Amino acid sequence: MTVLDGKKLANKIIDGLKQKIQKLDIKPSIAVILANDNPASKIYVKNKEKKALELGCNSYIYSFDENVKEDEIISLIEKLNKDKNINAILAQLPLFKHLDEQKILNTIEPVKDVDGFTIYNTGCLAQNAKPYSIPCTPKGIIKLLKEYNIKLDGKNIVVIGRSNIVGKPLSLLLLNENATVTMAHSKTKNLKEVCLKADIIISATGQKNLIKADMIKKDAIVVDVGISRNSDNKITGDVDFENVKNKASYITPVPGGIGPMTIACLIENTYELFLKQNCLEK
Ligand code: NDP
Repeated sequence: MTVLDGKKLANKIIDGLKQKIQKLDIKPSIAVILANDNPASKIYVKNKEKKALELGCNSYIYSFDENVKEDEIISLIEKLNKDKNINAILAQLPLFKHLDEQKILNTIEPVKDVDGFTIYNTGCLAQNAKPYSIPCTPKGIIKLLKEYNIKLDGKNIVVIGRSNIVGKPLSLLLLNENATVTMAHSKTKNLKEVCLKADIIISATGQKNLIKADMIKKDAIVVDVGISRNSDNKITGDVDFENVKNKASYITPVPGGIGPMTIACLIENTYELFLKQNCLEK
């Protein structure tokens, strides 16, 4: 069994980006909108900012309390869309419940949509055209699998979870890589049988220990996107790692798997949007 080391690859991507960003006269800038009081979101936003600053990017966080009106956020995004000094805009999800997530996300100019969540960029992904950005977590998963020379062409891949930020864009990317993709979710019947047919299982549910050793065929590849907390507050994924690792050929750890890849891809997307907006080559 080989551990798919997301931390190692993320550091490699980040080192490469650091060198490229150091050579730029103007630095890429990212604006992050934080409109929820979820402690985990605050930590994610802080971590993203730390990494962006470490690489020499500019980072601006706009925090709102629960009294924020939707129009205030829309006006801010419209201002950021026009601001030539801002290359990337990210609305940290989830937003406060009274805010219309789709409306807010789709106010972001597609060329500044660093998460690739606007209808334009999602549509490009669905049509296998060229989106300005590919959603960071799915992009990170594909990069990690490719780093280990794992072929996707013709493979039976089960993606568990159908969210707009992980499961759906990931399934489209895999389809574009010629995989045979099955999407599973909370209403899927006989998840075990579905998983047993898979060469690769990618779980993104947030349900601890959902994927057990008897649900995977021998030498399957297992990617764990989930992030939850155990009773001792330790981070854990969707997969029963200790038992599944003995049967899998490759497996991602949690932490140290997809999490660091997501942040690396966010900085890469910011840098790539900067290049596109300034008509520069990669
Ligand atoms: P959502 O809550 O939006 O989606 C969860 C999905 O899991 C839904 O499609 C749901 O099905 C499905 N699901 C829930 N329970 C089951 C079950 N028992 N069996 C099968 N499917 C189930 O979550 P996200 O997509 O935003 O995130 C998923 C997980 O990934 C979370 O733990 C999140 O923290 C983590 N995450 C990690 C990232 C990283 O960088 N590592 C980045 C983003 C997310 P249904 O649609 O039917 O409700």
